[in-house]
Amino acid sequence: MSSIILTDYELVVGLEVHIQLNTKSKAFCSDSTEFGALPNTLLSPISLGHPGTLPRFNQQVLEDGILLGLAMNCQIRAYNEFARKNYFYADLPKGYQITQHLTPLAYNGFIHLNLEDGTRRRVGITRIHMEEDAGKSIHDQDPYDTLIDLNRCGVPLLEVVTEPDLRSAREAYQYLSEIRRLVRYLEICDGNMEEGSLRCDANISVRPRGVQAFGQKVEVKNMNSMRHVQRAIEYEFQRQVEMLEKGETIVSETRSFDAQASNTFSLRSKEAANDYRYFPEPDLPPLFVDDDQIAKVKSSMPPLPEVLLERFTSVYGLSAYDASVLCDQKHLALWFEQLVNLTKHYKQAANWTMGPVKTWLNTHALEIHEFPLSVQALASLIDAVQDGLLTHHQAIQTLWPVWLDSPRKSLPNLLTELDLGKPSDGPPLELLVEEVLSSMPAKVKEYQSGKKGLLGLFMGELMKKTGGKVQPSAASEMLRSKLEG
Ligand code: ADP
Ligand code: MG
Repeated sequence: MSSIILTDYELVVGLEVHIQLNTKSKAFCSDSTEFGALPNTLLSPISLGHPGTLPRFNQQVLEDGILLGLAMNCQIRAYNEFARKNYFYADLPKGYQITQHLTPLAYNGFIHLNLEDGTRRRVGITRIHMEEDAGKSIHDQDPYDTLIDLNRCGVPLLEVVTEPDLRSAREAYQYLSEIRRLVRYLEICDGNMEEGSLRCDANISVRPRGVQAFGQKVEVKNMNSMRHVQRAIEYEFQRQVEMLEKGETIVSETRSFDAQASNTFSLRSKEAANDYRYFPEPDLPPLFVDDDQIAKVKSSMPPLPEVLLERFTSVYGLSAYDASVLCDQKHLALWFEQLVNLTKHYKQAANWTMGPVKTWLNTHALEIHEFPLSVQALASLIDAVQDGLLTHHQAIQTLWPVWLDSPRKSLPNLLTELDLGKPSDGPPLELLVEEVLSSMPAKVKEYQSGKKGLLGLFMGELMKKTGGKVQPSAASEMLRSKLEG
């Protein structure tokens, strides 16, 4: 398909995301929700829907739902009902799923995506409702039979449905990243898509550019990888445009994504769609949410990524890129906030956090609360470098590894021990190098675009400036790190 024709069409996508909540017990009984337990061990007669059992609602599910609803700028519904969605399937022993049908807990919300081209897109949130998960059918472990693990029956889910507001596969990917970041900030779900904690159905249609009316949508079901969602949408866009170009009609159907073949295939047409015979769940009373409860949940709301991003750029003057790296994980972002309460050198604080601190965390596969040095320690080091007590180079190459090994030592003791931080006769090397480089901006540009031979020129300048008093190897290393770092 020529790319000319593809650009004649616009993609329209709406996503339905299932969020598995990390409550300790299930939505309607006290069975554990532990992940990875032996199959079919976390099952009471309630999870199995034995006759005569009664569900009892886990209030934590409601609190998590309100929290997410507020974080996505939704209205919260005062009067909530549960409904039965009836269908027969081997992983659904009750024969119905408890969900919300006509009264979703949250509705009419929106979130913003910061797109890669620097623009922002508002994505409408149609609804968020509470429901229970079904069991798991395992098709790939036994050569002959499908295995069933019912442990997941009754695990609480929130389903978030967007308006058809997304316009590219990439935007859908970014929306999913945003959801993942949000549920992790709120600590209501681990966000691990590959483990099934987030699952996505994508509704996809195309329309000729300029046309207002939406095209017929196709639904691609149950994907548990952000890349898969993106690839499925890319594939569907091409497939649907090709069909329209051939004069064919797109039918309403449910499809599945085949990651190996990188395509989608039809599961069933919507004509044959289930009639779920929804009706109000007779075993559960309606739920009332009052303003007090909403206010209480609101007061427990952690800072949201969007708020932190705004503060990091406007108050601390960080670039949008730095701010987004720091805000990717809530605890790192909050750690950084503590750091900049202790040092005014915001940009350096950001560089240390994104560079040496994150590198250490990654190599050790640890979280920020396990980082050996305190924010006070790092703040004092940043200030010491800025005050010219030691160079950045010395701080990072010499002091940093030693300090991480003995985090209880004080900075002054370490400086003495490592023979650093002695007042020198002249200004520190770093400062001299910076002066030389800022006096020759054009040459610096040339160097950075590949003319590495210019290093000699900078060296010469530095020697002239200091009357040859600098140590050449340290000087060239410092020059290089300034030019390339
Ligand atoms: P259904 O009744 O088939 O479930 P809904 O109207 O409830 O359809 O919408 C389900 C999802 O499909 C929502 O995320 C919505 O934004 C999306 N959607 C609806 N119409 C379209 C369309 N023409 N193209 C793409 N997505 C759509
Ligand atoms: Mg639907």
